[in-house]
Amino acid sequence: FLDINFNRPLSVIKEQIQNTPKEKRLIQIKDNYGKIHTLSIKIDNLEESSELFVIVLSDITSLQSKAEKFRKRANYDALTNAFTRRRFHELYQFEFARSMRYISPFCVLFIDIDDFKGVNDTYGHDIGDSVLKDFAKLIMDNVREFDKLGRWGGEEFVLMLPQTTVNDGYKLAEKLRKIIESHLFEGVGFVTCSIGISMIKKGDNPEDLIKRADIGLYKAKNSGKNRTIIEA
Ligand code: GH3
Ligand code: MG
Ligand code: MG
Repeated sequence: FLDINFNRPLSVIKEQIQNTPKEKRLIQIKDNYGKIHTLSIKIDNLEESSELFVIVLSDITSLQSKAEKFRKRANYDALTNAFTRRRFHELYQFEFARSMRYISPFCVLFIDIDDFKGVNDTYGHDIGDSVLKDFAKLIMDNVREFDKLGRWGGEEFVLMLPQTTVNDGYKLAEKLRKIIESHLFEGVGFVTCSIGISMIKKGDNPEDLIKRADIGLYKAKNSGKNRTIIEA
């Protein structure tokens, strides 16, 4: 933020403002209630070569917080706070490329709640929503900071594990599956999930790894659910 000393001559202030890039011509003030406001500031000569200046201050506080909310919504799913699919994909592309470059292990998990349609049908959509929210939180609370969870759609999530071998990824998947299986979801009781896991391999495209993890999930569903299947 600009730190403007209004005791200095206006011509000096004008220079200070105009030497600052447009998007940084901002000042912060505290109102009588203690609330901080962000103001954009503009200064111009009133007329050509006049010594009269006009300063325009616009309060952009609410505009800024709207922009901030908008940015947040684009990156984080509103219900579960997992990454949105779009944001997850960006982060995934980055991790995938890094893992390829340094030939480091990298795993992807597809996680889908079992018989979730039944939860909605029996307890209603709102309870279904709260299960989804708790489900995502249980996963996020039990992984490392670098492991990123995205909401792929509906009740299907995708988790990426940088620097993780398929053995360790499988262990984590089973740990998560057991945490879910033994958690009492409020108003519902027990819920299970199925997981497909795959590790990056030489020659993979980003889509190949995702596709294999999805095939693993498909196999987990078809062999009785509530299990983790590795798709090599
Ligand atoms: P499976 O064990 O094979 O995964 O069966 P399923 O019933 O979980 O799977 P299916 O794909 O048939 O149904 C998913 C359900 O998830 C259907 C849909 O109504 C519900 N769903 C998707 N998104 C939301 C949501 O945001 N909130 C709630 N409450 N339900 C959702
Ligand atoms: Mg399901
Ligand atoms: Mg599903």
